[in-house]
Amino acid sequence: MVADRILTLDDGTDLKWDWRSPMTNVEAINSLQQLTLLLDNVQTSERAGIWEWVSGSTGEFTVKAVKRLLYSDYEAVNSFIMDWCHWIPAKCNIHAWRMEIDKIPTEEALRKRNIQLEDSLCPLCRSDDETTEHLFISCFISSTVWNGVSLWCKIPNIFAFSIKDLLECHTV
Ligand SMILES: [Zn+2]
Repeated sequence: MVADRILTLDDGTDLKWDWRSPMTNVEAINSLQQLTLLLDNVQTSERAGIWEWVSGSTGEFTVKAVKRLLYSDYEAVNSFIMDWCHWIPAKCNIHAWRMEIDKIPTEEALRKRNIQLEDSLCPLCRSDDETTEHLFISCFISSTVWNGVSLWCKIPNIFAFSIKDLLECHTV
């Protein structure tokens, strides 16, 4: 037990080791020195050890507390508000919105949900993983399509480095 290794003395703590073999490896000796430094200010108590969730206000682990922790940064970062276009079908707007929040079922997204796939390469170019960014921005097939769209609309070439750039290119 940890308490067996950390002895509390009147003038601090002392560490009591019980190695099975002598420590000769330099890397292990360095690790032990770092551990000793970390344990320098550790104090043990007679109280039984408990697991404590430090991010929660009560110290109790709950799924709600984990969810709050995970989404705390996400909500602050994703402040992009997509312009809703009224002269295209709603499904196109929804698709664009899902692109921006990275909720397109690409092979990478499916793999994250433990759906087994043969590989995660882009089926169009086979040169990179199929992600939303790759599929709509960096894939040379999509670049060709965007160039065709810009020629057809008689507008300057569309240069986008992110989905947000693509959704905002009509404002430039
Ligand atoms: Zn591709």
